[in-house]
Amino acid sequence: MPKNTQTNLDPRSPLVLDTRELPRRPGAMRTVDRVVKAPADLGLELIGVPEGADLRLDLRLESVSEGVLVSGTVDVPVSGECGRCLRPIDDSVVVNIQELYAYEHSTTDETTDEDEIGRLQGDLIDLEPAVRDAVVLELPTNPVCRADCPGLCPDCGGLLDDLPADHNHEQVDPRWAALSQLNPEGD
Ligand SMILES: [Zn+2]
Ligand SMILES: [Zn+2]
Repeated sequence: MPKNTQTNLDPRSPLVLDTRELPRRPGAMRTVDRVVKAPADLGLELIGVPEGADLRLDLRLESVSEGVLVSGTVDVPVSGECGRCLRPIDDSVVVNIQELYAYEHSTTDETTDEDEIGRLQGDLIDLEPAVRDAVVLELPTNPVCRADCPGLCPDCGGLLDDLPADHNHEQVDPRWAALSQLNPEGD
């Protein structure tokens, strides 16, 4: 694997952090508090972040001896469909980020794999993979509009929320119907 990856990150890209303002002196710190647009395909099949939605970054960039530690939160709007009643879900989740990005040519750079620890490319950090991982971890595989959503009636497809509690389509078995006719006064 080539060690000297070329800088191909676009500093204007929403999830690329520029660390030029952060002195490369352990303990130096900068905060990033900004709203950026969500990239495409962020999330899961049934629930995810709409492309272009506002992501609120509230991050701390800290110089450590081998690189930059990024920690903080990203507030993301999510939308999807309830797996039980099919009504739309509009919600938001806050994901935690804590990632170390090693300086190029640092000992960490030379001794670890890139999939273990991220890398700075020049002064730039690509935060997108970390945000993707964090969002996917936070989202439910089977989203529901609320934990006790009763879903749809299996017979007519009506929303059980909107139907009376005793709603059912139970047909009396014709054999039992015949029996009940033997005792027409009974209830
Ligand atoms: Zn539901
Ligand atoms: Zn029904």
